[in-house]
Amino acid sequence: MATVELRNVGKVYEGGVRAVDNANITVNDREFVVLVGPSGCGKTTTLRMVAGLEDITEGELYIDGNLVNDIPPKDRDIAMVFQNYALYPHMTVYDNKAAQILEIEELLDRKPKALSGGQRQRVALGRAIVRKPKVFLFDEPLSNLDAKLRVQMRAEISALHTRLQATMIYVTHDQVEAMTMADKIVVMKSGIIQQIGSPLDLYNNPANRFVAGFLGSPSMNFLTAKLREEAGKVIADEGDSQIELLPQQAAALKSYVGREIVVGIRPEDFIYNEKGGKGIRTHVEIIEPLGAEIHVYVSTKKHQMISRVAPTVHFKVGDEAVFNPMMDRVKFFDLETEQAIPA
Ligand code: ATP
Repeated sequence: MATVELRNVGKVYEGGVRAVDNANITVNDREFVVLVGPSGCGKTTTLRMVAGLEDITEGELYIDGNLVNDIPPKDRDIAMVFQNYALYPHMTVYDNKAAQILEIEELLDRKPKALSGGQRQRVALGRAIVRKPKVFLFDEPLSNLDAKLRVQMRAEISALHTRLQATMIYVTHDQVEAMTMADKIVVMKSGIIQQIGSPLDLYNNPANRFVAGFLGSPSMNFLTAKLREEAGKVIADEGDSQIELLPQQAAALKSYVGREIVVGIRPEDFIYNEKGGKGIRTHVEIIEPLGAEIHVYVSTKKHQMISRVAPTVHFKVGDEAVFNPMMDRVKFFDLETEQAIPA
């Protein structure tokens, strides 16, 4: 058993910087929890408080049900793997206690400077594994690696989590790492937790505009539009085109008619209509062929939007193109509070 619980945890650094505000996080036994958010959002501070490397200003931290606020790091039974590996430079891989599990046996006599980034990261992982800690903590462990190695190590850490059946807390600014590795994601911004949930739960039901925009690449399209009623239908104008809300959306957004709201459409839900006809009329501005798909940037005169299109479609810059939003996937946000409007 290894659970971690933060209750109303806050951190104010000397000098008055509030890095974390009222964090409530429950990490269940054997769960892989990813703390994600932009630079400065407080994720590293949160992890360091769990490790005992930073004092906790407010609230309580429990490991396995025991209050550990005042327990020193070495007595918390945790292992931390950092971005910068933290290997002992004078020791060989063997002395650094790497494990066979990581396929680095042929490197056992080497010193850290004779290892590649990925190999060093494996040794650092190995050193954490042999301690058999209750909880593994990772602070951006892959950010120094090149893109290909990052993808490989990402899969290796996920496999390791499955094999070790260990509780893990992982910090990253990379939403792809969060989406692909986590059982549960904690999205942070400016020291405040925005939302906690499974990757697909957050992707499909973001609590606010920040979470909606942070998860997913390319990001969700956000259109500011005034809602109006016409012949019993609720419509958001977009350039010379109209977005007609579904009946249940129109009912849920009734009190917003006459006001501006934010309409959120993911690029994969903004569907190219080869036949033209009814839909959002645009001009093609930028075409990014990625092989498996094309990212096409289009202008509606009012907004620039991105769509993910099949690689078989041949666009030219300046082309006219019609798109249809998948209305049952479209999200709505309050313009001022930026909170999602359930619809
Ligand atoms: P990054 O991805 O850039 O590491 P982060 O989300 O991990 O960002 P933190 O490192 O936790 O963010 O920092 C949160 C806030 O606390 C930032 O505003 C940062 O400047 C501040 N901060 C961090 N460490 C200290 C410190 N030792 N003293 C004062 N302020 C600090």
